[in-house]
Amino acid sequence: VLEKLQDIAIDLRRVLSGLEPDRLSTHQAAAVVEAAAEVERLAGSIKLLAASRASKSRRWAAEGHRSAAGWIADKTLGSFGDAISTLETSARLDALPQTAEALRRGEISPAQAKEVAVATRLDPRAEGELLEVAARGSMKKLKERARDVAARSGSKQTEIARYRAIHKSRYLRHWSDIDGGFRLDARLAPDCGARLVACIDSEAKRLADEAESRGKSLRPEASKADALVELVTSAGPPAGRARSRGAGRGTDSVVVRVDAQALRRGFVKGTETCEIRGVGPVPVVTARRVLGDSFVKIIVTDGVDVKAVCHVGRTVDAHVLSALEERDRECVVPGCEVTERLESHHFLTDFAECGTTSLDGLARVCKRHHDLITYKGYKLTGGPGKWALVGPRTRAQGP
Ligand SMILES: [Zn+2]
Repeated sequence: VLEKLQDIAIDLRRVLSGLEPDRLSTHQAAAVVEAAAEVERLAGSIKLLAASRASKSRRWAAEGHRSAAGWIADKTLGSFGDAISTLETSARLDALPQTAEALRRGEISPAQAKEVAVATRLDPRAEGELLEVAARGSMKKLKERARDVAARSGSKQTEIARYRAIHKSRYLRHWSDIDGGFRLDARLAPDCGARLVACIDSEAKRLADEAESRGKSLRPEASKADALVELVTSAGPPAGRARSRGAGRGTDSVVVRVDAQALRRGFVKGTETCEIRGVGPVPVVTARRVLGDSFVKIIVTDGVDVKAVCHVGRTVDAHVLSALEERDRECVVPGCEVTERLESHHFLTDFAECGTTSLDGLARVCKRHHDLITYKGYKLTGGPGKWALVGPRTRAQGP
């Protein structure tokens, strides 16, 4: 089987490299798309059928992946989410012999098999009728029927069982897009989801109103994203909470790894890195900014050697922090009177290399001004009693 597949791949590569769509008639192009779609579908079915068994080989671990899904995503150059659903469906096929058979005969697509696998979790007896709908082709019809299957069971026991199954399969996953964008995906019991959405919506409205009062408008999706972060993180830094429980083992902190050179320069060059462990690359200015957060640990490296580990929240003397809170009761930017959710800004760069943990290098600013300083080129100068916010071009005071 393997050799045959490898031969097919070689043939396909030949076809691909010789393809010149402009030379085809439009009708020929349509036929080519159709044939290619079939090849894609059949190859997908092969992958789907073999995925679950392949995941048991541990080859993914040997190749340095953290999970079988990561390995599949890497092989297909596809998304992590797709890889997970491929694996889940593949594992379900043992219990769905008719579906596996339909795949083998090329009658249904991998996408259709995924729908059947999900729907039959609610009603295993529905496999046959779902496959009939699938064989007739339309994905939309199949989804409709799957929803019918879910809805019709109708007894107190099945309702409870279905709810429990959803709750049992709950998850929260995250990964990074190629450009470093952070992505989140969750599956929750419906009532938990509803509570979450209600909270996010109301916080999003508050943030949108606040932005509007400053003459800015926020896209609805953007304000919801901000609301999620705001709601979750404003409950307090995880390390702080761990400490108050007397734990403080440091397992719950954000770990940033950055080259010393990059940290000094302000951006990465060449092979230098600046990344949050488990999430991905971030701009150096972001790393500098989060230095003041009590739950962030920064590992400064010099090539491969670790030069210093800064754990501001733990190494800054509690007295220094209290003194700072006492000194800067509101955002230090002249004219700004924000007192809520202030962030520690360390305006001396030496601090970024654990040079000092004294009060001298620290100031508390509001989130908006911290943003301006971090991302818009503003600088905080002066010192207690004579703070000034210098704009990127003008020498004007704060906006
Ligand atoms: Zn401010």
